[in-house]
Amino acid sequence: MKLKLHWQIFIAMALGGLFATLFKDQVPMVAPLGDIFMRLLKMVIVPLILSSIITGVAGIGDSRSLGRLGGKTFLYYITTSFLAIAVGLTLTNVIQPGVGLEVAQEVTISPDDLENPGSVADILMRIIPINPVAAAAEGDILGIIFFAIIFGFAITRLPEKHSKTLQAFFQAVFEAMMTLTQAIIRLAPIGVFGLISQAVASMGFGLFQAVGKYMLTILLGLSIHFLIVLPIIFYLFTRRNPLDHYRAMAAVMAMAFSGSSSSATLPLTIDAVEKKAGVSNKVSSFVLPMGATINMDGTALYECAGVLFIAQALGIPLGFGQQLVVVFTALLASIGAAGIPSAGLVMIFIVLEAVGITTPAAYALVGIMLAVDRPLDMFRTVVNVTSDSIGAVVIAHSEGEKLNYPLVGTSRSA
Ligand code: ASP
Repeated sequence: MKLKLHWQIFIAMALGGLFATLFKDQVPMVAPLGDIFMRLLKMVIVPLILSSIITGVAGIGDSRSLGRLGGKTFLYYITTSFLAIAVGLTLTNVIQPGVGLEVAQEVTISPDDLENPGSVADILMRIIPINPVAAAAEGDILGIIFFAIIFGFAITRLPEKHSKTLQAFFQAVFEAMMTLTQAIIRLAPIGVFGLISQAVASMGFGLFQAVGKYMLTILLGLSIHFLIVLPIIFYLFTRRNPLDHYRAMAAVMAMAFSGSSSSATLPLTIDAVEKKAGVSNKVSSFVLPMGATINMDGTALYECAGVLFIAQALGIPLGFGQQLVVVFTALLASIGAAGIPSAGLVMIFIVLEAVGITTPAAYALVGIMLAVDRPLDMFRTVVNVTSDSIGAVVIAHSEGEKLNYPLVGTSRSA
């Protein structure tokens, strides 16, 4: 019997971790396996997002349905991100992981190594690409999404002859990209082995102890959102057993964890949500590519908790008003963060700036956070991707689509 893909991936993860622990020096030899796999996935992302959103929007047809679907998607994204932020805010205020922290001397990474993401206004402005071809060439996903939505909408306004041609063309591109994806997914266990070896070998274990409380606070918050908040939302809107969904998404979650990238996981997410949950291509092709870039619950929680942690460590009390500013900028930062490794950490500068914490000591702390970011990034990416997949299912269900999972209370089919 052939082992299911997610089991193959889990075994590869365990072997990768073991390999990196036992043969740390040999990791550079296997690391290319992970890099090749990520490159293959990244290769399909731009044409996949473009063709998927264009077909999605053009397929929805009239502007009323588009508005309805867009409205639901937006509402889901905002609500779940705010709920995640609320969890992060509460935990950081209760646990106070930053109080009494003394790690400034241990900084090994210069904050200058981090890229400056620009201001909130910049992020909003950048959504409109001046040149869609350049946006595609540079992998500017927000720009691609914006262009694809309005282009897809323009298609619906064309005379039938042209709209049919364009729809058929982009549908064909989309299907070709999904066919490619399926071929690439078969390599997942090999790729994941390389990715996990690399991740484990590069973790700064020395600092883990110093900022252990901070890491545990974030992990606890992510777990609450992943194991309690999201399943409740899933159940409330679909009346199905959340475990069925989590089981169906096992390979997707393992990939998000190994690669720390929502974007690179997107091809797998679309595949699983359509094939295993039974969501139509119309909904998944609209909701998921946007979700992979805009809807990042884990990252939103992290932005909020991370900034409060820094404020606590520096002894800067943040009042109610300022915490409110953190909440809103954390949301914006999570929207603006790209679906790539450590993007969320870089965005933390925006939130820091919004509350006026711009001292070198604060940046030094971000340096420490970078050193221990990899495991946190892995977990928040799983949360990000899970929330996207639940969003697609909840929205599909609200549009009257029939889902594939067994009904609650009935026995599972294999
Ligand atoms: N790596 C995350 C993602 O791709 C973003 C982040 O760094 O928070 O979803």
